[in-house]
Amino acid sequence: MSIDPIKYLDLVKELQKFYPTYDIHLHPIEIFSNSDSYVQNKSNSGIFHLDSRPYISPRNDSLYKIDLSTEVDISLNTNPRIIKLLNRMAYNHSGPVVFGNHLQLAGLDKALLLPVAQEHEDLRGKMKNIAAMFKGDRRFFMATSVPNPVRNDELVSYLIEDKNRFDVIAQKIHPNITNIDTASRNGKIRIERLIQASAEVGLPVIIHTGLSFIPSIGQKRNTAIADFFDINIPKSVAVIFAHGGCFGHSAAEIESSILPKLKLVLKKHSNTYIDISGLELPALTKLIDAVDLRRIIFGSDGLYVAPAAILLKLIASIKTSGKDLEQCLIHILSKNPARHLFREAVSNNINDPQNRSNSEASEVDLKIEG
Ligand SMILES: [Zn+2]
Repeated sequence: MSIDPIKYLDLVKELQKFYPTYDIHLHPIEIFSNSDSYVQNKSNSGIFHLDSRPYISPRNDSLYKIDLSTEVDISLNTNPRIIKLLNRMAYNHSGPVVFGNHLQLAGLDKALLLPVAQEHEDLRGKMKNIAAMFKGDRRFFMATSVPNPVRNDELVSYLIEDKNRFDVIAQKIHPNITNIDTASRNGKIRIERLIQASAEVGLPVIIHTGLSFIPSIGQKRNTAIADFFDINIPKSVAVIFAHGGCFGHSAAEIESSILPKLKLVLKKHSNTYIDISGLELPALTKLIDAVDLRRIIFGSDGLYVAPAAILLKLIASIKTSGKDLEQCLIHILSKNPARHLFREAVSNNINDPQNRSNSEASEVDLKIEG
């Protein structure tokens, strides 16, 4: 599909005037190594680096290189050396200027930063460093993530402490990295307790679903969306299945086994949602077709991928589906994340074109033909 990236991101920027736009899935530090040994740049206090290579900000013309083909290979690269190298390149720089430049390029206002706990890691030192890097920049919000040594009966107090110390607004669970086997009975119990504790403390949950390749052990792990069908999820907390269960799966697997199970899980648990982070067009088009607009939330998986790239892939998939582009973007980028994660009301915005008379609304035409 040929779409003009600049034209479509202009559409998002037009929409941004009336609706705050969100990315709920950005990792402030690289999640497999969890390296946070960043040094603050001497000439720009909002940029932090691992080594002395210069920072290059993302540019408009890079948008034309984004692969919007449906033929793209979506299987996971399983060469640990190459993965480590790519991850290191993506994360040589971090900080509010680095992430802010990506948000600006895409037309996004606010972002949720997701640290990920390794199996036995005390994450608090890293949480402190991340909070210090992004301190005072109101575009960025933090989630927490709980390592396995925290016992089930300690979860509520652990989450309360993270709320108090770091103002976290969500809990990230990454079973593949934290090594929780959601297919096992003990794994299911752990996930239930993590979600239950989050519900008690009032923190929505974002949970990785799908495959991951873990470079340190040279193995794939899977958190299958089907595992959540019989997991007890309290109604009082929003649970977002990151990647809609599709991460690392082929288009054929998504079609034949993931989507039917995802639909069952979403139907059974009415307070669950998906994010579209890190997905390529073959997966995205199927998700956009299959899942109710009110259950989809925008996340990118930056900095592994540029938020603008995922946004353009989302736009391409909506256009392929034939759904109303403007309505889809308003829900996926703004209303759904505002309601379920950021707890901000956007539906009664007096600047909302839907809430104004026709003559006024016609002055701002959000639709772009093409
Ligand atoms: Zn992620």
